[in-house]
Amino acid sequence: MSNKEIISKLKYTVKFLELHGVNEFKIRSYQNAIQILERVHESLAEKSEEELLEIDGLGKSIVSTINEIKTTGKSSLLEEYKLDTPLGLIELMQFRGIGIKKLKTLWEDFGITDKALLKTLVASGKLLSVKGFGEKTINNLASIIDFAFACEGKIYYADAEKIGHAIMADLISLLPDANINFVGKLRRKWEVIDAIEILIDVPMLKLVPVLAQIDLLEQDKKKSGPFSWKGTTTREIKVAVIFYPTTTEKFVNNLLLKTASQEHLAWQLDDKKFKEHINQTIWASEDECYAQAGLAFCEPEIREGSWEMPLAAKNKLPDLVKLEDLKGILHNHSTYSDGQNTLAEMAQACKKMGYEYLGISDHSKAASFYANGMFEERVFKQQQEIDSLNQELAPFKIFKGIEADILVDGALDYDDKTLATFDFVVASIHSSLNMDKNKATERLITAIANPYTTFLGHMTGRILLQRQGYPVDHEAIINACAEFGVIIEINAHPKRLDIDWRWVHKALDKGLKLSINPDAHEIAGYADLYYGVCVGRKGGLTKEKTFNTWPMEEVSSYFAKRRKKVTTKI
Ligand SMILES: [Zn+2]
Ligand SMILES: [Zn+2]
Repeated sequence: MSNKEIISKLKYTVKFLELHGVNEFKIRSYQNAIQILERVHESLAEKSEEELLEIDGLGKSIVSTINEIKTTGKSSLLEEYKLDTPLGLIELMQFRGIGIKKLKTLWEDFGITDKALLKTLVASGKLLSVKGFGEKTINNLASIIDFAFACEGKIYYADAEKIGHAIMADLISLLPDANINFVGKLRRKWEVIDAIEILIDVPMLKLVPVLAQIDLLEQDKKKSGPFSWKGTTTREIKVAVIFYPTTTEKFVNNLLLKTASQEHLAWQLDDKKFKEHINQTIWASEDECYAQAGLAFCEPEIREGSWEMPLAAKNKLPDLVKLEDLKGILHNHSTYSDGQNTLAEMAQACKKMGYEYLGISDHSKAASFYANGMFEERVFKQQQEIDSLNQELAPFKIFKGIEADILVDGALDYDDKTLATFDFVVASIHSSLNMDKNKATERLITAIANPYTTFLGHMTGRILLQRQGYPVDHEAIINACAEFGVIIEINAHPKRLDIDWRWVHKALDKGLKLSINPDAHEIAGYADLYYGVCVGRKGGLTKEKTFNTWPMEEVSSYFAKRRKKVTTKI
């Protein structure tokens, strides 16, 4: 178990302590402990209870909680609080922007236990007379409630894929000869998933008793019917699961019909719709069906009906980028700011994975309070360490980067002299997120126009299922990136996946390059590149248009040229 996982359980506990009005002293002792633990860079899981007690400032009770978390994966204190808290309230806790103090008031004074009650209360106008609930707060609350309703029943793609594979593994062991495949949004790799949908060539009568043997699944008999088995997962992450039984003969036909969006199926061929073409005959393979329709084969994840069909009809579909095409990893954090691994560890792991280069971009000084952002002095210290690591690890190269906060007025977080010391700059917004579309767009475009900006980081600041991004004029921002030669990042963190895949193709149409960046805060974060690749592929991203598929020398000379252009102008 990583330090981050342990600490996040403790942070979650603090929320419950606050919600339940536990005495200030206990809350403060937890908060202090969290601060101390965040500075510990050795693995907490590998420390014995005695060793944990040796850490200055950690009391006995918190050490025993840490010990419990690392051995059982759970904290009994946290579990108790969860049981004592209405489920609807726990759900509301996941949304950023409500605040535990306000939630406590809503629960205690108004009996709010779920989003539906909260919606009614907000609409009643009663909150306006309550201290701490101004008009702005109430409007904000209303939009969070709408967002909460929109998120209902959805889980992250990364979780859905893992759970889906676990279900598959059980199924394969029980029905080794069956044809099984994901369909729907899971096969199309959407960023969030509302149901794990599985197609299987086993008749319902035989399937039902088999599914009953899988612990992970629970059937909803009321919702199930003759053509589909419906239920949910039984573990902590709950999501709907749907099975579609079919015959072996019709497996491919159903795979085609149940994978694609309605828009994809509605594509007009010469004399009929694509869906009618599928239904016309029995297909042996998906390739055959596309070929007979005069279409190039569409990978499952692009079957959205958004941009792919006109290209498939002209046999001009792009060759989609693959994970193994990536040659380097940009936008990563180390212990110089809020990362879990040291710069040397991040670099060695990246090299060991076979990559040619690493771009380190720790947080800038405006983030000093919330993400241990770096003042100039530490920036130079880091750059010196990079120089010596580069000698040691050559030909592997660490590029000197920064994730510079875009300040409220759109300026970057250092003066030009400091900015000129970096190989690349990822410009991102991390604070003052409450903006209207005009303000947000203007702020971003000012940063894009800054000649030091190399990449635009997580464009909308969204945290999927937790926080809506600030509203932005995507087209204006894409145009500005094209004008100023800024590369748009696909932030590959499974909770961000920002820029949204729906805009990737538009960015490519404007001739932009994109970079698939994991925003890794620890070595394990490099694995998130995969989710960024999924997003890129959905938008038609190719190897050529993906900046970090370029070899080290090309990336190096790109950065150098861009920097030279700015510094010679000054
Ligand atoms: Zn960021
Ligand atoms: Zn970052």
